[in-house]
Amino acid sequence: MTVVTRFAPSPTGLLHLGSAYSALVAWTRAREAGGRFLVRIEDTDIRRCRREYETAILQDLKWLGLNWDGEVRRQSDHFSDYGRELNRLGDRGLVYPCFCSRAKIEREIAASASAPHGPPHGPDGPLYPGTCRHVAPVERKRRIAAGREFCMRLDSARAAATAGPCDFVDEGRGRIEGRPLLMGDFVLARKDTPTSYHLAVTVDDQLQGVTLVTRGEDILPSTHIHVLLQRLLGYATPLYAHHPLITDATGRRLAKRDRDLTVQSLRESGVSPADVRRRALAAAGRQA
Ligand code: GLU
Repeated sequence: MTVVTRFAPSPTGLLHLGSAYSALVAWTRAREAGGRFLVRIEDTDIRRCRREYETAILQDLKWLGLNWDGEVRRQSDHFSDYGRELNRLGDRGLVYPCFCSRAKIEREIAASASAPHGPPHGPDGPLYPGTCRHVAPVERKRRIAAGREFCMRLDSARAAATAGPCDFVDEGRGRIEGRPLLMGDFVLARKDTPTSYHLAVTVDDQLQGVTLVTRGEDILPSTHIHVLLQRLLGYATPLYAHHPLITDATGRRLAKRDRDLTVQSLRESGVSPADVRRRALAAAGRQA
C-alpha cells in the first residue's frame, strides 16, 4: 500500500519551528516509503484564517525543501463535500441543530455544577450539556424558519452506540481504546461555516486517501472522535503517529506569537533550510 501522509496547517499565523517539525515528519515518512506527501490548508475558521498566512506557509515549505505532491487542497473550496457527509449522518438521525448561545451554554453548565457529579468534562473543559438534543422536531423547524442561528451537533451517545468499537493504532503507543464520548455532542457544522474542523479533517483524510496521519500529540483527544466519524461514515481508519510538541527553553509550547522562531525570521537571519530542519529535529529529540 502506498504511504500517503499530509501536513494540514491552519493559516492563522506563520510557520514556526514546531509546525515546521510537523511538516518535516509527514514529508520524511512519505519520502522514506516512496509514498505521497500532501498539503492541505485547513481554513474553515473563516474569522481567524488569512490568505497571507497561507501564501507564507507554502513559501516556507518550499524554502525548507518540503515539496508536496499534487495540488494543495484548501478546505474552504470544498464545503459541499462536508455538507454531503453531514447529510448522511443527518439522514440516520445522528445530528441535531443547536440554537444555544455561548452564554446560555455557560449558564447551563454553571447550573449543573451543584449536581452530584458536576457537569461532565472533556479535554477542553465542560462538555455541551445537550440542551438542544431534547428540542422537538416541530420546534426545531419553527426556530429555523424564524431565522434563529444554529450549529449542528452530533448526538454522541446515539452515534457511539451505532458505531461499535472505535479503537485505533498509534505507532508509538500501540492500540488505543476508542473513547467516542470524549468530546460529547461536538459541533459538526458551525454557525458561521457549514463544517467544523473535526468533520472536515475526517472527510478530507478519507477523500485524499491518507494512510498515515502524523500530528502533534495535543490533537490526540480529537483523534478519538475522528475515528468515531470514520466508523459512522464507513471510512477506513488510517494509522496514527502523534508526535511530541516542540517547546522553548523554559518548557513552554511554541505558539504562533513566538515570532523569533518563525521560519520566516530564521530565514531572514541567514539560517539555511538544512539548519532549520536540523534545529527542528534536535528540539523534537529533546522532547521525546
Ligand atoms: N489544522 C490543524 C492544526 O493546524 C492540524 C490538523 C491535523 O493534523 O489533523 O493544528
